[in-house]
Amino acid sequence: MDNQKSNRTASIAAVAFFACVCIAGYIWILSVICPAETAAAFHQSSSSPVVFSASSPAPSTAKVLKTEISSGQSAHARELVVVNQDNPVPSWYALNLTDAFGVKMDAEAAAAFTEMRTQASKDEVTLWISSAYRSNELQNKLFQQEVENFTKTCPTYAEAVASAEHSVAKPGYSEHETGLALDLNGVRSDFDSTPAFRWLSLHAQDYGFILRYPKNKEEITKIEYEPWHYRYVGIENAKAIKKSGLCLEEYAAQKTDTIH
Ligand SMILES: [Zn+2]
Repeated sequence: MDNQKSNRTASIAAVAFFACVCIAGYIWILSVICPAETAAAFHQSSSSPVVFSASSPAPSTAKVLKTEISSGQSAHARELVVVNQDNPVPSWYALNLTDAFGVKMDAEAAAAFTEMRTQASKDEVTLWISSAYRSNELQNKLFQQEVENFTKTCPTYAEAVASAEHSVAKPGYSEHETGLALDLNGVRSDFDSTPAFRWLSLHAQDYGFILRYPKNKEEITKIEYEPWHYRYVGIENAKAIKKSGLCLEEYAAQKTDTIH
């Protein structure tokens, strides 16, 4: 009896030991194959902030998904961020700046512009950037200058501010502060009669750029027609926007409706 009992105890111990070895081995294999996922699985209570970029995979945890939906944004929110008179640069927006062509701009937009410029040049069209990323301080300076100009013709300061808002965005409300906007070939209202504008009208969407303030959308964008101002939204969005004839405000609203 004693022998049988000790044999059984030994068997149980052996099985338990084997099981432990298997579990440990499984965890080790997991950590070798996918260290990030394994680390995440063992640190789910971590509250460190999560920063997304356009190239990040879609967030997978319920916690992150809730945060995203509550701010009304999809995984592609960064490319479609709407910054206008009513919507300041959102707090979740993370700048991703690089130096290119003598200015600072979004790194993805810079790569796309580089390709676009190369192709334009092959078609004997010159594209150059006159303004890209602007800091909040610079935007403030530009806005104050515009208000100053309008005080010469407007009867009150409040009217000067209101008038200035139609041509220069208030600090915090300019998409130049995202690094995704480019003013091309100088700020000139007759830019739309140049070969460069005609080339952009045909090809900008193939590189992810849209004409941000079209002539027939001033009521919605609340910005006067600007033939020189282009915005990077990614190739897929730019092609869809071009095809639909919508402006960014309309397109982004439609996208958000689809997501919900
Ligand atoms: Zn601009």
